[in-house]
Amino acid sequence: MNDSVKKVGFIGIGNMGWPMAGNLVKAGFEVAVHDVDPERTRRFCAEHTATAPGLAMLARSDVVVTMLPDGHGVRKVLIEAEQGSFLDNAGFGLLIIDMSSSEPTGTRELGRLLHEKGIVLIDAPVSGAVPRATTGTLTIMIGGDDPVGIERARVVLQAMGNRLFETGGSGTGHAAKALNNFLGATSFAAASEAVLIAQRFGLDPATLVDILNVSTGKSFISEVVMKEHVLDGKFASGFKLGLLAKDVKIAEGLGRAVGLDAPLLRLVSDRWARACEQIGFDADNTEAFQSWQDNLTE
Ligand code: NAD
Repeated sequence: MNDSVKKVGFIGIGNMGWPMAGNLVKAGFEVAVHDVDPERTRRFCAEHTATAPGLAMLARSDVVVTMLPDGHGVRKVLIEAEQGSFLDNAGFGLLIIDMSSSEPTGTRELGRLLHEKGIVLIDAPVSGAVPRATTGTLTIMIGGDDPVGIERARVVLQAMGNRLFETGGSGTGHAAKALNNFLGATSFAAASEAVLIAQRFGLDPATLVDILNVSTGKSFISEVVMKEHVLDGKFASGFKLGLLAKDVKIAEGLGRAVGLDAPLLRLVSDRWARACEQIGFDADNTEAFQSWQDNLTE
């Protein structure tokens, strides 16, 4: 372990943060956790060698990881929560790694603001969902303007992921993440429409998916998600519908920010936003399939 990083603060121990913080404990870091849900924090500390000293003390860690629903939550907890106790107590040179899937332009703004206080922010969102968060084999996309901070972050990131990519300046990791999830969301929506049409035409959906998986229609969605969560009716990927809809919206905003007309992105974003309105933010994202099942032509 890198001697300059011993104490790691971890904010947001939800579906992803829980196993990620657990892997930091396993790797030998002194882990302090914080979550807006005190019951989760209590349970995490009961099951791991970790503490929950509160935001002010946690700000005195060597490195702080955030794994929250979005960038607004990250800003809120670092700057506004408990009358700004995090920022008031953060030491000069603190390294913050935002591993949430946040909005890239917001990350750049937050990075500038923290830089004025002597704090380094890098973005390091992840792909791989709960199974790979558990095995410590996440893909991690690292953006940031401070090469020394990125090097310092590696020892922490390597305890959670094994495919690390440097994407460039601040916010580029978050941009890569949103664009990846735009493709995942598009692939899921397209595969769902194909399966629903097959079903109505009397073609067994399982047979269609088997064909896709050895043909040009193959994707991560057809190979893993359709098989494991949709066809067998489990709908339990551990990734909330509202979070995926948010990611596609971020990608849509990014397209607008760079001035590219991206009609497919608008359409896909709209589809996911509507599914979220229909069945709720906390539904599993794979349940969108069910919300589209009843879509009929006029
Ligand atoms: P989650 O909703 O399960 O967990 C979020 C956690 O943050 C919860 O425990 C919640 O209580 C806590 N929280 C919310 N607001 C807070 C605040 N202001 N202060 C302190 N704690 C707060 O979400 P998740 O699935 O763990 O996802 C976390 C992030 O990772 C999101 O940005 C998501 O888009 C991204 N992500 C999720 C997956 C997945 O498969 N679940 C995969 C890759 C990336």
